[in-house]
Amino acid sequence: MCPCCGTKGLWAAPGQFTQSCKGCGLDFRRHELKGRGAYMVVFPLTLVLILAALKLDEAVRLPALALVTIWPLLVAGTIVTALRWAKAAVLVARVRD
Ligand SMILES: [Zn+2]
Repeated sequence: MCPCCGTKGLWAAPGQFTQSCKGCGLDFRRHELKGRGAYMVVFPLTLVLILAALKLDEAVRLPALALVTIWPLLVAGTIVTALRWAKAAVLVARVRD
């Protein structure tokens, strides 16, 4: 949702903004969190997920097949969700300035 006018359709891809707002023309891409900023979100998260995977592997010995199917999906889902939250937060913060 656009932080300026509330028009829906902020996302072009699961983790990427559309070019601009259909309602008010606000340039979303200009406010997109990328490079270093996105790395700051993805890196610690990946670390946590790897540690969680190791802990989980100690606790329950999942079959290798389950690990290679479930884990990448879980990791991708978590990272995309976190990126969306971070990007939306950055957008809202910058628009309010
Ligand atoms: Zn708008």
